[in-house]
Amino acid sequence: MVGRRFLPLSFLLFGLLRAEDPYAAQRADMVRTQIEDRGVRDPGVLRALRTVPRHLFVPEAARLAAYADHPVSIGYGQTISQPYIVGFMTELLAPARSHTVLEIGAGSGYQAAVLSGLARQVNSIEIVPELARSAAATLKKLGYENVTVRLGDGYKGWPDAAPFDRIILTAAPPEIPQALLDQLAPGGRLVAPVGSTLFGQQLVVVDKTADGKLKRRSVLPVMFVPMVRGKQP
Ligand code: SAH
Repeated sequence: MVGRRFLPLSFLLFGLLRAEDPYAAQRADMVRTQIEDRGVRDPGVLRALRTVPRHLFVPEAARLAAYADHPVSIGYGQTISQPYIVGFMTELLAPARSHTVLEIGAGSGYQAAVLSGLARQVNSIEIVPELARSAAATLKKLGYENVTVRLGDGYKGWPDAAPFDRIILTAAPPEIPQALLDQLAPGGRLVAPVGSTLFGQQLVVVDKTADGKLKRRSVLPVMFVPMVRGKQP
């Protein structure tokens, strides 16, 4: 008897949940076909990607394209990265619950939201004032309390919150800024697209050993928006 009563109730609950997030099925598809099938396997990363409502991070007019297999424009000449790239970079970054993470290029706030559930604290810097403001507002509205967005120039990093266990760049500098290597904790890891739009970019991983030595490897050709230089005061 209990079972019979429970069944319709659970259908009702499922229906309600679905109604609350009509994009859940699209998101599950996105994770399976675009990310898992292409080799991203970390269960925590996949769970984060299944959970974060990507459609709420893109402009309303682009909502239908939010789960498609390509980057989406977020205005000001900037894009939210393709879902696969977010998954691949997050797995490569290997964040842990005890970590403080620095992101350069908050953009829409999506990557920061994905990191939010995988780390203790996420600090994200954005150079376009309107994007910094809207990313902070979206993250706050959706309840990502361990993410702090600051308007600033990523070339300088965030010295007062350093050192960071993990640093991720979502815009490409021609070379990894020295300030960011300095702000990486011993045992830490930095993941960044490096290079130019003209001559090509590589996704680079830098590990800092416990005694402070840097080990660098390139993993994938990529195409990110360039990391722009802030105006000097
Ligand atoms: N991580 C973002 C995607 C960002 S696109 C997301 O999940 O939506 C790259 C972002 O880097 C853009 O918003 C761009 O304005 C920003 N950016 C470019 N140069 C920068 C710099 N020097 N410092 C901080 N942010 C920068």
